[in-house]
Amino acid sequence: MAEINTEEFQLELAARLLAEEDQRFMRMAIREAEKAFEEKEIPIGCVIVKDGVVIGRGHNQIEMLKDATAHAEILAIGTAASALSNWRLDGATLYVTLEPCPMCAGAILNSRVSRIVYGSKDTRFGGCGTTIDVITDNALKRPVAVTGGIFAEECLGLLKRFFQQMRLEKGDSGAKPQQS
Ligand SMILES: [Zn+2]
Repeated sequence: MAEINTEEFQLELAARLLAEEDQRFMRMAIREAEKAFEEKEIPIGCVIVKDGVVIGRGHNQIEMLKDATAHAEILAIGTAASALSNWRLDGATLYVTLEPCPMCAGAILNSRVSRIVYGSKDTRFGGCGTTIDVITDNALKRPVAVTGGIFAEECLGLLKRFFQQMRLEKGDSGAKPQQS
């Protein structure tokens, strides 16, 4: 009979639980992105979780707030800091449907979030390694773990559907997507 390697088993179990948790919270981030879609905002959503509890959430509201910095992550960081009455979000994980842009990656570093989990890569303006790497290309001694690709197709599909719909509504097939 094969002997069970307890340590290996524990590690595998921990990895599986983490993957399940990532999927669960990414679903919530997708729900936030859907809210943006309903509000005719580029559908990107974010939730921030600490100790298994959602402490912040946000979706892109650039148009409604008329604020170029109103990205899902920035708004979620603000709500999380309010919830904790503390701007330091050590130990928190930020789930977002699209790879954070350099501005948001900077805000994530400044807010001390410990881990980023994102859905789809942003091949135009990804700030976590795809076009620029704000997270590791600095002299800060604050490592932030990054996991990408959770429900990537679903997250990207939402964006594609949004731009298709916008083009149809505008009757302009040459419209360029706005930055978010
Ligand atoms: Zn951003």
